[in-house]
Amino acid sequence: TIGMLAIDKHGDISGACTTSGMAYKVGGRVGDSPIIGSGLFIDNEVGGATATGVGEEVIKTVGSFLIVELMRQGKSPLEACKEAVQRIVSKNKNYKDFQVGFLAINKQGETASYCIHPGFSYSKYDINGQSNNPSDSYVKS
Ligand code: ASP
Repeated sequence: TIGMLAIDKHGDISGACTTSGMAYKVGGRVGDSPIIGSGLFIDNEVGGATATGVGEEVIKTVGSFLIVELMRQGKSPLEACKEAVQRIVSKNKNYKDFQVGFLAINKQGETASYCIHPGFSYSKYDINGQSNNPSDSYVKS
């Protein structure tokens, strides 16, 4: 999945995501990406979030909506992403066998990602098109 979150100079937030789905998926499977609230959710008053990984698990927690609601309650993007992953982990004994990761942005333009597994990264560009420090792209639990 590729998830994108943006904030413009007026503080307006937008997002998009696209995916090829899971490898070896059954015909007709619908993952989290096309389901608003699961693979992507934006509330321009609060922030936005997007997900990657096993969509079935993201759908069960309505993960992106959850993150935006946690930010509405005052959590930072990182705290909200961590709590959403922990929600999934707590419901799955086999969490080590699959991956879910989230990105989030809040109304102040603060961003974060969270995923327990390695190999999850994101890039951040400012108005001049400069990338952030890639070391900020993966947070281990
Ligand atoms: N989230 C996607 C899905 O479940 C898969 C992915 O992130 O690669 O369809």
